[in-house]
Amino acid sequence: MLIYNSLTRKREEFVTNEPGKLSMYTCGPTVYHYAHIGNLRSYIMEDVLEKYFRYSGYDVTRVMNITDVGHLSSDGDTGEDKMLKGARREKKTVMEIAAHYTDAFFEDCKKLNIKKPDVIAPATSCIDEFIKVIEGLIEKGFAYEAGGNIYFDTSKLAQYYVFNDFKEEDLEVGVREGVEEDSNKRNKADFVLWFTKSKFDDQELKWDSPWGVGYPGWHIECSCISMKHLGERLDIHCGGIDNAFPHHTNEIAQSEAYVGHKWCNYWFHVHHLNTNSGKMSKSSGEFLTVSLLESKGYDPLAYRLFCLQSHYRKSLVFSYENLDNAVVAYNKTVARIVSLLEGEQGELDAAAFDEYKAKFCAALDNDLNTSLAITAVYDVLKAKISAATKLALIEDFDRVLGLDLVPAAKKIIDEKKAAEEAENADPFVREIKALIAERADAKKNKNYARADEIRNLLAEKGVTLIDTPQGTTFKIG
Ligand code: AMP
Ligand code: ZN
Repeated sequence: MLIYNSLTRKREEFVTNEPGKLSMYTCGPTVYHYAHIGNLRSYIMEDVLEKYFRYSGYDVTRVMNITDVGHLSSDGDTGEDKMLKGARREKKTVMEIAAHYTDAFFEDCKKLNIKKPDVIAPATSCIDEFIKVIEGLIEKGFAYEAGGNIYFDTSKLAQYYVFNDFKEEDLEVGVREGVEEDSNKRNKADFVLWFTKSKFDDQELKWDSPWGVGYPGWHIECSCISMKHLGERLDIHCGGIDNAFPHHTNEIAQSEAYVGHKWCNYWFHVHHLNTNSGKMSKSSGEFLTVSLLESKGYDPLAYRLFCLQSHYRKSLVFSYENLDNAVVAYNKTVARIVSLLEGEQGELDAAAFDEYKAKFCAALDNDLNTSLAITAVYDVLKAKISAATKLALIEDFDRVLGLDLVPAAKKIIDEKKAAEEAENADPFVREIKALIAERADAKKNKNYARADEIRNLLAEKGVTLIDTPQGTTFKIG
């Protein structure tokens, strides 16, 4: 498989540290509010990647953190903790909102068919780990204390800016977001590992540490949680593109300083979902959540298809019009599968199965080209192969795509059957159907007088008959 590695800015052959085994880390949500569908685009694409790794035979262990402390309003070290802000907004405790929004996040994931990671670790459950790694960084000379906080010293690294060609002057604009500079920092790029002092002394959650009572910085969380569960050599790390700097840059700095060698081989970054007016936001404009889409009648899996239709390394614009197109595509695909299930299935053609599967894999092996993988589904539906082969292929592809295509078709068939059964349970409907059958027989026997008589009899009872090439249906009232 070729995959784009943000670290080398190239598409590379994907090779794991240990043959057959794959360690995968994903930055989890900051649980101060509901996830917007932009956040969920990242998780959908990461889910497809994980599923494709498993489909290809890897034994994957995937770890995700839950950020419930330390993520400040700016991704740098300024501003207030997002969790604290959220708690104040809702007049609840930090832990209460963390529990609520963590549950809400996994509910959204379930609706979108995003698999739960093997390990989910809230930052607040790993404080001892953070302290251990920070102590190690101080010992090795990579961290210093200033004004009560512990900072990572970026000047100790041969190369700090690993993902981009940022210059320190850019950083001033990029990270400060109008908030004043922290004068404790020896270098502009330095970042906080542990806070004991901040402008916001009302931080609700604090822990004892060798440097005083305080709380961890956001970046150290992911490094420690990853190393705790996946060891010192990680195969692949995922996140939204906004995380590349400073978050992932800082993760690499502190992890490699701590372990003394290369830490993570591949970096997978999903580009942003935007609205027509720009960045997706939780605080301004329409707050686009899965629940909002559902309240407007959209199936969350149509949103999943909408995401899969585009490449993860291209930014994507959300509009209801674009989503409507995905709904049409989803419903059409499911309707075609309904016809396959209802018709003659035939024999499975193994050679055709392998041929179409190879096309599907070629799409995903090419830097996870999900839009071509979706085209592979359409090609199967159009192909001149048996229904059994088509159904087997679509079920196989859906292990990666997660669109529930065959289950959705089966649900339609079941609903149709249930509606028919409910109808048949009604004695009046049974009587109508019996008369329609008698009328068909009468017509067959050229007894048109009896056929007309039945039509008139039913009309008196308020039943209109509709003759179609497929047979006669009826309307009551
Ligand atoms: P957060 O909850 O803010 O920590 O973000 C959760 C994930 O969503 C991170 O991986 C972010 O990089 C990602 N993310 C944030 N905004 C967007 C967006 N508009 N489109 C795609 N991913 C995003
Ligand atoms: Zn992270």
